[in-house]
Amino acid sequence: PSTPAQPVERTLVLVKPDGVRRGLSGEVLRRIETKGYTLAAVELKHATPELLAAHYAEHEGKPFYAPLVEFMLSGPTLAVVAEGQGVIPGFRSLAGATNPTEAAPGTIRGDLGRDWGLKVQQNLVHGSDSPESAAREIALWFPGL
Ligand code: ADP
Ligand code: MG
Repeated sequence: PSTPAQPVERTLVLVKPDGVRRGLSGEVLRRIETKGYTLAAVELKHATPELLAAHYAEHEGKPFYAPLVEFMLSGPTLAVVAEGQGVIPGFRSLAGATNPTEAAPGTIRGDLGRDWGLKVQQNLVHGSDSPESAAREIALWFPGL
């Protein structure tokens, strides 16, 4: 009974520079923990252009790509590995829709985010969108974990 039926599921969560600047790191960790997920790693990091080029490779060429990278370089990011069954879609539910104006109340982006009229949405958090993304992103932000 103590042997889990599934290997433990992990996701990469980022409290982006807007969230750290606004003092919301603890609030995001609280929502992850009160949902019942476990923190496996937490580290405040200032991203580099190389890390962001890899992390956001899928968005290269989009109109918001350069503003997104500039925003992510604007201050430290709190990088978090959260774990628990279903945590990849589960954290995406906690985060809410990408656009904070459309994100439902009760979600991190819906409760704490808004449109600031900028070229990139400053929407407080990132969460991996699939098991493949999670494995890739955890290796980028926490090499050796
Ligand atoms: P998510 O973070 O919800 O997975 P995406 O992976 O599509 O969203 O986009 C990465 C990030 O780029 C978003 O979190 C947001 O900060 C920014 N972004 C995405 N789409 C737009 C857009 N249409 N206009 C401005 N910024 C955007
Ligand atoms: Mg994404």
